[in-house]
Formats: sequence, structure tokens, C-alpha cells
Amino acid sequence: MNNLRDAAYWRARAQSVSIRAQAYIDGTWTDAADGQTFKTINPATGEVLATIAACAEQDVNRAVAAARRAFQAGIWSEMPRSERKAVLLRLAALIDTHREELAVLETLDMGKPIADTLQYDVPEAGRTYAWYAEAIDKVYDEIAPTAPDVLATITREPLGVVAAVVPWNYPLLMASWKVAPALAAGNSVVLKPAEQSSLTALRLAELAEAAGVPAGVFNVVPGLGADAGQALGRHPDVDCIAFTGSTATGKRFMEYSGQSNLKRVWLECGGKSPHIVFDDCPDLDRAAQAAAIGIFNNQGEICIAGSRLYVQTGIYDAFLEKLEAHAARMQPGDPLDPASAMGAIVDGAQLDRVMSYVKSGKDEGARLRIGGERAYADTGGFYMQPTIFECPTQVLTIVREEIFGPVLAVTRFDTEEEAIRMANDSPYGLGSGLWTSSLSRAHRVSRKLQAGLVWVNCYMDSDVTVPFGGVKQSGSGRDKSLHALDKYTDLKTTWINLA
Ligand code: NAD
Repeated sequence: MNNLRDAAYWRARAQSVSIRAQAYIDGTWTDAADGQTFKTINPATGEVLATIAACAEQDVNRAVAAARRAFQAGIWSEMPRSERKAVLLRLAALIDTHREELAVLETLDMGKPIADTLQYDVPEAGRTYAWYAEAIDKVYDEIAPTAPDVLATITREPLGVVAAVVPWNYPLLMASWKVAPALAAGNSVVLKPAEQSSLTALRLAELAEAAGVPAGVFNVVPGLGADAGQALGRHPDVDCIAFTGSTATGKRFMEYSGQSNLKRVWLECGGKSPHIVFDDCPDLDRAAQAAAIGIFNNQGEICIAGSRLYVQTGIYDAFLEKLEAHAARMQPGDPLDPASAMGAIVDGAQLDRVMSYVKSGKDEGARLRIGGERAYADTGGFYMQPTIFECPTQVLTIVREEIFGPVLAVTRFDTEEEAIRMANDSPYGLGSGLWTSSLSRAHRVSRKLQAGLVWVNCYMDSDVTVPFGGVKQSGSGRDKSLHALDKYTDLKTTWINLA
């Protein structure tokens, strides 16, 4: 996309965008059964954007019952794959047709720059539906190499009712990583968006209906985590929870499962990803730019943010100078202005949380190199400066805990072993990166890093074709790629006696 237009265009579009505020259950738009609502705000101004239906147990029960009915009726689960594919391809095409509207909704709802929502979040979500649509009539089942008087088939069966519970940092995209493979595999889905960011999920329901997804097959229940999220987690007729969010909530979903029906729980949780720059880095400037983007993109609200930067002593000073220069170009601005590299933090609570980490960094002896302040408070929005701390030790809270904001903790190291030890010294294991000119070091260190993702001489590059997810307390299972289908299908062995 090369024509991003100007801020005036996007502000005008934002004025006229229409917002869906009811739940979508069994093909109809509905208020919460008890009439409860919650407000969603525009992080750029602090103003209320909409009052949304706050679904709770009764609504979740209705949505799950509708999903189950649709599944058992076979209107989707038994639809020929080529037809399911056609519906999902229509959905992908509709996402593309409505990309500007979806980008505006996403930007208004969670404060991320319009340049990102328009060029990344929305097209990537559309691509995800198209990719799984295209995949589903190309995956084959298996026949086991048994004795000749037996035919043993191993088939993938959809699970039934999948509940997708997603966070606010990439609302449409995180939903697509769950909903697209789950639907493609033939399941019915109940989606619960984060309470900060329901708008694109609700619009997605309209587009899914227009694409031909039958009633009951895809439902959206906006609501608070403790209500709608918990009700899905504990529901005895939900077969699978596909969750993205914090590690603390992920642990809750495992408890809900254990206390209810042992539903499968797939977790994409938090991260504190190490980004290592060795002395033999092939391009210091590119690495510094990648390090800045790796932490300040999306206001630092990224699970794979390279929030721990390790720089080898020989290049430390030169690298930090370059890093500062790139960070300076990533100042926050109006999310509706295509020139803004960073937008606003999602809400006041998250900004307070991030600021409390800035305070802890100062209190515990980290050296504040740049930033550390709220910005444009007069707008009512929740902006924050890109912030870099130099950290003398690994025990600092800002080195250990996920901040989920634009705060980078930099530490100097001397040897490769020291870098690996510090990188792995974390309860998380999601992303990681390293910069080196040595092929053997790249292989050696990649193998030793405890992470689901390793980037060599780049950071955060991605594609729907490759698995995404973490180890340790960053979660289990993988989104994206054909491997994601493992989450939404069970293997069935059928042993046929031919004798
Ligand atoms: P969160 O855990 O607070 O919320 C995520 C979802 O869970 C929301 O829909 C929320 O309503 C729901 N929820 C909250 N409390 C609940 C409860 N008690 N019971 C049931 N549901 C509940 O996370 P967040 O603040 O929305 O998102 C930020 C987190 O998401 C960060 O930790 C980030 O690293 C993580 N994340 C991970 C990935 C990944 O792929 N690993 C991607 C994006 C974000």
C-alpha cells in the first residue's frame, strides 16, 4: 500500500465510522441477557467510543449451545471442504474490501497507528483467512503401515466448539490466528475479544455472515474476562480454548479446564524476549533500527517485543548511540496520522502499569537513558515516550517482568556464554534475536536459546507459513502454519479388519 493519505482523511473517516455494540450469537445481534454493558474508550483522547454488550454466563451458554447445534447439524463441519474454502475466501475478500474501515476501527479502539493497521494488521488478518481456506482442501489424512489384512486410517476430526479468547494488542489479527484455522478445520467458534478492543471482532461477525458462514458457526461474545472469559473457560461443552493473553490469565484457563471438562487449552502468553547483538554484527545501524522497532513498534505492546537488549562490550557505546537515534524517530503521535510511528497506550490502567515499571527501574538503580515520561497528557490520551534503561544487573524488575509498553532494558555482556545464560534466565521463552556475521555462531546460539522463535540478523519478521508460539511460561501450541491445525483437530484411528 503506497498511498496512506493524510491525517485529515483518516480523522474524517473516524467521524463517520459505524460501530456495532451488541453481541453476535446464533446469527443474531443481541444485548447481554442481563442488559449489562461496558464502555470502550479511544486511547488517543480518553473519550468514550461506544457502550458494548457485556456478555456473561447466560450469553456464553447461548453462544456455546448455538455453536454446538450448528456443529452437530453438520452445516459447516460436514460441508465439503471446497465449499468451506469458498466461504472463507469470500471472508478474506470482504476484509480486503473493508480494509480502511477495519483499520480505522482498530486504530480508534486500541490506539495503534493507522499506518500499521492499514498496512499490517488488516491485510495480514485477511491473508490468514485466505491461507487456511486454501490449505484446507490440500491436507490429506493417513493410512498406517499395518499388516495387509487391516486398513487403519488416521483421520483428523474437528473438535466441535472452539472458544477463542484474545488480547487487545492485535485484536483482529490475533482473532484471525485462532478463528481462521478453527473454522477451516470445521469447528464452530465462539470468539471473546478483550474488553478494550471489541470493535473489529464485531465487524468481523458481520463480514463472516455476509461471506456465508452459517448462523451459529461463528459467534462473538464481548465482555469482561472474569465474566465472559471465565464462563467460556469453565463451560462443560466447550472442547477447546485457544487463548492469547497474559501468562497469569493463561494459568487460570488451565485451572478452569481442570475444574470443568478437561477441555484442551492452547496458550499464547507473555514474553520478555532477549535480543542479542554480538561484536561481529554485520550491520550495526540495521541492528539498532531493528532493536528500536522491536521494542517501540505498537507502543511496545507486543508479546515478542525485544524488551531485553544484550549488547557486547566492544560495540556497546557505538550501538547505543545509534539505538537512541532510531528511538528518537519513534515518538508517539495521533494514531490517525499516517506519519505517527507510535500511537497511544491502550488505556489509562496500562499506562499507569508501564509508568510504575519506569519508577521501579529508577528506584532499583537502572540508568534512564531516554524517555520515561508520559506525553501529550493535555489531549486526554495515554501517550508515552520511547524509554531506554541501562541495567547493571539481571535482577531488576524491569529486566525480569513483562512490561508491555515502550520500555527497553539494555545490558552489556562480554562473552557468548554470558549472553546465552542471561537470555535464558527468564520464565518466558517466546521470541529471541541475535546479530552476528558468523554462521557457526548463529547456529550455535540459536540452538541454545530457549525460545519458540529465533531471528538471526533481523527481528520480528513473520509470515503465516511459519509457526508462532513459545516455550516455558510463554505458552504451548503454535498459531499459524499447518501446525496450527493440530490445535483444532483430533486424530481418529479407525481399524478395519479386512480378513
Ligand atoms: P489478559 O490476559 O489480561 O487478557 C487476555 C484475554 O483474556 C482478554 O480477552 C481478557 O478479557 C481475558 N481474561 C482476562 N482475565 C480473565 C479471566 N480471569 N478469566 C478468563 N478470561 C480472562 O491479556 P491482555 O492484557 O489483553 O494482553 C496482553 C498480554 O497478552 C501480554 O502478556 C502479551 O504478552 C500477551 N500476548 C501474547 C501473544 C502470543 O502470541 N504469545 C500475543 C499477543 C499478546
